[in-house]
Amino acid sequence: MEKIKNYIGGKLTSTKSRNYLDNFNPSTGKVYSLTPDSNKDDFLLALTAAKKSFISWSKKSKKYRYDVLMNLANELEKNNTKLAIAESVDNGKPLWLTKQMDIPRCAENIRFFATASLHFDSKVHTMDGKAINYTLREPIGVVGCISPWNLPLYLLTWKIAPALAAGNVVIAKPSEITPYTAYLFSKICIKAGVPPGVINIVHGRGAGIGEEIVKHRDVPVISFTGGTETGKKINTLCANNFKKVSLELGGKNPTIIFSDCDFDKAVETSVRSAFLNQGQICLCGSRIFVEKNLYSRFKSAFVKEVKKLVVGNPSSKNTFLGAVVSKDHMEKILYYIDVAKKEGGKVLCGGKQVFLKGKLKGGYYISPTVISGLDYLCRLNQEEVFGPVVSIIPFENEKDVIKMANSTKYGLSASLFTENLSKAHRVSAKINSGVIWVNTWLLRDLRIPFGGMKDSGVGREGGFGSLRFFTEPKNICIKI
Ligand code: NAD
Repeated sequence: MEKIKNYIGGKLTSTKSRNYLDNFNPSTGKVYSLTPDSNKDDFLLALTAAKKSFISWSKKSKKYRYDVLMNLANELEKNNTKLAIAESVDNGKPLWLTKQMDIPRCAENIRFFATASLHFDSKVHTMDGKAINYTLREPIGVVGCISPWNLPLYLLTWKIAPALAAGNVVIAKPSEITPYTAYLFSKICIKAGVPPGVINIVHGRGAGIGEEIVKHRDVPVISFTGGTETGKKINTLCANNFKKVSLELGGKNPTIIFSDCDFDKAVETSVRSAFLNQGQICLCGSRIFVEKNLYSRFKSAFVKEVKKLVVGNPSSKNTFLGAVVSKDHMEKILYYIDVAKKEGGKVLCGGKQVFLKGKLKGGYYISPTVISGLDYLCRLNQEEVFGPVVSIIPFENEKDVIKMANSTKYGLSASLFTENLSKAHRVSAKINSGVIWVNTWLLRDLRIPFGGMKDSGVGREGGFGSLRFFTEPKNICIKI
């Protein structure tokens, strides 16, 4: 069985703990590799390597860092197919999706932030000829990047790239549930000539190596993407050392369908936003609010389209939903379907585990599930399921839907569908979410501030916002 290695000081290294975690292929339910359950010794090695490399990396010119990152992006791109296959195996998601979205976005992230760093500027404030202030933006040091399993390499590069472009060095911890592409990425870093210690990748559990990174005083910045409860814990640990923290957390996003929408576009997009990546994207729309006079027509059309979605082998082109990421996660999703039924929900389609045949027999598949008849305040409409389960709810008017959309503790994203421009502006302004789409979903511009309100996060990443987060401002005031 292949043992995944850490990447420390430019070398692939075995964990000092000698302990490993089973790494499952969700499409078969079989263990196919072993993840290091790294410990404090591994962390300290990574920290020493990172601190040493920071001395030179932070002093290099922007152009030098740009060249290293562009080289890395080019090397990564040469491995696109290999990475796409590996991501699909490790996560259970369809291969067409990793080919179209996950993996191309990795090189794109790296190129985007490498280039952005060349354009990143700081400000000058003059004081009526009496004095001049200029603000330096300096690299901070060793940055901890902790990422989840739903978009494994995509989100890892989203953090690593701006941190490095800004002159920091990184200790990254990918999810222990999907470590494999980060391991391949380590090998790509070596091939691309990334200086030793600039990127360090340590694998293992959140409560183990994850907390070592978060707790140590010499890692002054933490960029975390994951669940809200984990975010709360990390934020508390970081407070002890006054760390700079960015938290991208969970969501329970509303999709709002007004009766004056472009009907076909609204149905097609809301189906995609509910079930892409098995509903395991933080931005997925899991509460679909439909204006009352369109409710019946929309519900029928939506369910008809959902019934056409194929649950199957992730490597098949026809598959829309592959496996969900783990047995535990599958059980959590099935539990929520059960909760919804007990709350009086009517399962309009799906609602069950799907058992495939042959080598996929032990895989974790769930049919796309649509539930109606639930109050907007019930558990299924308030708690994050993070799977292929949506609830469909009628509403009377704008005021009504704004109240329902804003009723959860989350505030990550929302999408609304209307052909009335004034209504789109009006409702968008009143929805408490960090990202709002009108007549579309998941249309991403890497320059925008990305992140959530309320329990969906703290801070924003994206564009120059990321470069500001990964630098320390220092103001110098000179009297004239
Ligand atoms: P998770 O919180 O369980 O784990 C995320 C990462 O944190 C993993 O690497 C894990 O090992 C690590 N971790 C766990 N406990 C830790 C601790 N005490 N100290 C340090 N690290 C720790 O989340 P998950 O199940 O991997 O991912 C799903 C969640 O991520 C969902 O809630 C989803 O909405 C959220 N998410 C949010 C965004 C966003 O941009 N807002 C994007 C993707 C996913």
